[in-house]
Amino acid sequence: MKVHYTGGLVNPGIVGDHNGCVSLVQSIQRGHQDGNGWLDIGYSFVACPHQKVFEGRGLHHLPAANGPGLNSGHYAVLGLVGNAGLVEPPDGVLHAILDAVEYVRERGDAGREIKGHRDGYATDCPGEPLYAWVRRGAPRPGGDGGGDPGDGEGGGEPEAPPFPGRLLRYPPVTRGDDVRTWQRQMKARGWELDVDGAYGAQSRDICLRFQRQQGVEADGVVGPVTWRLTWEAPLT
Ligand SMILES: [Zn+2]
Ligand SMILES: [Zn+2]
Repeated sequence: MKVHYTGGLVNPGIVGDHNGCVSLVQSIQRGHQDGNGWLDIGYSFVACPHQKVFEGRGLHHLPAANGPGLNSGHYAVLGLVGNAGLVEPPDGVLHAILDAVEYVRERGDAGREIKGHRDGYATDCPGEPLYAWVRRGAPRPGGDGGGDPGDGEGGGEPEAPPFPGRLLRYPPVTRGDDVRTWQRQMKARGWELDVDGAYGAQSRDICLRFQRQQGVEADGVVGPVTWRLTWEAPLT
C-alpha cells in the first residue's frame, strides 16, 4: 500500500461533518475524471476522519495515483488531510487507512509493505505528519502495540522514551539530561557526535542530516517527531 494526502487545502470542518468528506471525495473524483480524463478517482481507497473507507478503484484494479510505472506495484490509499487546513491526521484517518490495509491484505493479494507516495517518486506527498507515521511503522492509534501493520521492519523496535516537553535547539545552546539522552541514542545509531549534554552547532548539524535522511522537515530542532524517530526509525 502507498499512502497519499490531498496536497491541497482540506477544510478542518470535515472532522465534524462526514457529509463534508463525501463532498470532498466527490470533488477529487470529478477532478480525476473530468480534469485528468481518467476512468475513475485515481486511488484504490480513501480514508476519512470518521474511520470510514471509501472504495475508489478497489481491489484488483490498477490505481493511477502512485506515478507512471509505479501503480502495478502498490495499491493507493488517500488520507483526507492536506498541506493546509487539516494537516495532522486525526486518529480516525489512521484507523481507516489501516482498515484499508487489512482489507487489501485479506482480499486483495497485497503484501506487507506500507510506503509513502514520496518513496520512489518525487513529491511531498503524503506530507510530513502522515509520512512520519508511515515511517514509524504505521501503528494503530492508542493500540497496545500488539498489531504488526508494518512491513516487518518495526518488529521488536525499542520505544522512544517520553518526549521531554521542550525543543532541543541551537542557538542558544540547549543543555540538560534530555540533550544527553538524545545524543547518546544518536551515537548508538552511528552518528559522530559528543555526548556532552549541550545541544550546539554539532548536534544541530547532525540533527539536520538525520531529518533529511528520515524525510521529515529538516529544521535542526529536536521536536516530538524527530525525538521519536531517533529511537523508532529503522536503521538504514
Ligand atoms: Zn500522492
Ligand atoms: Zn468522514
